[in-house]
Amino acid sequence: MPKILLVEDEPNMRIGLKDNMEFEGYDVEFANDGEEGLKKILENKYDLILLDVMLPKMSGFDVCKKVRQQNNLTPIILLTAKGEEVDKVLGLELGADDYVTKPFSLRELLARIKAILRRSESSVVRNEIVKIGRLEVHFESYNAVEDEASVQMSHKEFELLKYLFDHKNQTVSRDDLLKNVWQDVYLTSRTIDNFIVRLRQKIESDANNPKIIITVHGIGYKLIAQ
Ligand code: CA
Repeated sequence: MPKILLVEDEPNMRIGLKDNMEFEGYDVEFANDGEEGLKKILENKYDLILLDVMLPKMSGFDVCKKVRQQNNLTPIILLTAKGEEVDKVLGLELGADDYVTKPFSLRELLARIKAILRRSESSVVRNEIVKIGRLEVHFESYNAVEDEASVQMSHKEFELLKYLFDHKNQTVSRDDLLKNVWQDVYLTSRTIDNFIVRLRQKIESDANNPKIIITVHGIGYKLIAQ
């Protein structure tokens, strides 16, 4: 049974979500504020975290950042307030995997939970270490290593890299990436470009002169590999 942590300070929201998620067959735990949430995340193993942004003691953004700093790659869905466009982008750049905007429909949230849990499972298909630039990457365990030292990468960075690698030596458009890696047409291509910049810093010998993830002007990107 997938185990989900819900970090949310509004009691009504907690109760409503808990009942519905349990009905869907998830095991749900709570945290009431950011500090408690962070503590639980770092001490337990969850399949997914639903993380409100506006929380007492520590914001959802800070929780997200601290979780990723600990190399903890548990998928995170942020619950943001309506109209916080900037916050959504910021959240994804801090390492969140997805977000839903309040007020959201339960159906939408459940669909996103399912999609993320499915993606975590499907990444278990290939069990091999591949060499990409400076990194040795094990997609199954979301692990990247350089010179035997672990390299910190978010869940989303792995998924982006995996998608490019699965389509290596082919041009992949930004629209393809939005659709297949983010499942979101509302994000701007600038967010993708920022992710690419970060991947290059980890992969390329010279991030300013990329030889592995190259830009295909006006279209998107291409990952060059054997
Ligand atoms: Ca709140």
